[in-house]
Amino acid sequence: MEIKTIGVVGAGQMGSGIAQVAAHAGFQVVMSDIAESLVQKGLATISKNLDRMMEKGKISSAKKDEIMGRVIGTIRTEEMAKVDFLVEAATENEPLKLSIFKELDQICRKEVILSSNTSSISITKIASATQRPSKVIGMHFMNPVPVMQLVEIIRGLQTSQETFEVVKSLAEKMGKTPVEANDSPGFISNRILLPMINEAIYALYEGVGTPEAIDTVMKLGMNHPMGPLALADLIGLDTCLAIMEVLHKGFGDSKYRPCPLLKKYVDAGYLGKKTGRGFYKY
Ligand code: NAD
Repeated sequence: MEIKTIGVVGAGQMGSGIAQVAAHAGFQVVMSDIAESLVQKGLATISKNLDRMMEKGKISSAKKDEIMGRVIGTIRTEEMAKVDFLVEAATENEPLKLSIFKELDQICRKEVILSSNTSSISITKIASATQRPSKVIGMHFMNPVPVMQLVEIIRGLQTSQETFEVVKSLAEKMGKTPVEANDSPGFISNRILLPMINEAIYALYEGVGTPEAIDTVMKLGMNHPMGPLALADLIGLDTCLAIMEVLHKGFGDSKYRPCPLLKKYVDAGYLGKKTGRGFYKY
C-alpha cells in the first residue's frame, strides 16, 4: 500500500513536530488532540516553525502555504479512518496509550501500521491492546522533531519484518536517520539519557550545585550542547518523571528511582518550557 496520508494522534510538542516534518516531506497529515484549543496550538506551532525557516531563507512563503495546506487538525479520532499510517504522540502514560491503541485498532483500516512515539513504554504491551500486533511498532522521534536527525525504531515481540521495513523507509523519506533498538524500558536513548538527567536533579536536590552550575559543567566540561536541567525543561518534567517511573518499574532496580524534587516540581505544575517554569523560568 502506498502511504499518502499520515495520522498523528496528539498535537503537543512532539505531535506538531512530527506533523510538520511529514507534511514537509509531501504527505497529507491528519493531526488530532482532545480539545480544539490544543489542535489550534499545534497548528500555530507548525506555522511559527515554518516562519522561522522562511526568515532563514530555507523555504519560500509559497512552500510554507503548501506545507500548511497539507495539515488538517481535528478533535475527531474517527478521522483516522482515512489515514494510511499512524503515529501516536499523546501524553506518556501507559493506560492512556493502551486505550488510544484499542480505539485506533477499531477505527483504522486493518492494513494500517500503528506506530507509537513513546519514550519508554513497552511496544509489546501497546501492541497487545490491538488485534494487529504485527503492525504495531515504536517510531521514536527526538525533540525538536524538525531539527533532530535520529528516529529510534523499536520492534515489539510480534512486530513483522515488513512493518519494520516500512517504518525504516518512512523515517528516511522524512529526512531522518533510523536506528533500531530492542523493546526494553527506555529503549537505547532514554535508558541512557534519563538516568543522567535524574542524577543532575539529585545534584541540585542535594545542594551540590545551582542549576546554572550543573548545566555549565556538563556543557563546558563534557561538551554537551545543552545542560541536563535545561534539557529536562525542554523535554517536559512530566514526561521525564513518566520515563523514570517506567525504568524503575521495568527493571525493579532502585538506581532508577525518580528524584523527589522531580516529583515535587511535577506536582506543582512546573513542567518546564511548556508551562513557563521548570528548573528555569521562561
Ligand atoms: P505534550 O504534553 O506536549 O503533548 C501531548 C499531547 O497529547 C497533549 O496535547 C494532549 O492533550 C494530547 N493527548 C492526550 N490524550 C490524547 C488522546 N486521547 N488523543 C489525542 N491526543 C491526546 O507531550 P510531548 O512532549 O509531545 O510527548 C508526546 C509523546 O512523545 C510522549 O509519549 C512522549 O514520551 C514522547 N516523546 C517526547 C519527547 C520530548 O522531548 N518531549 C521526545 C520523544 C518522545
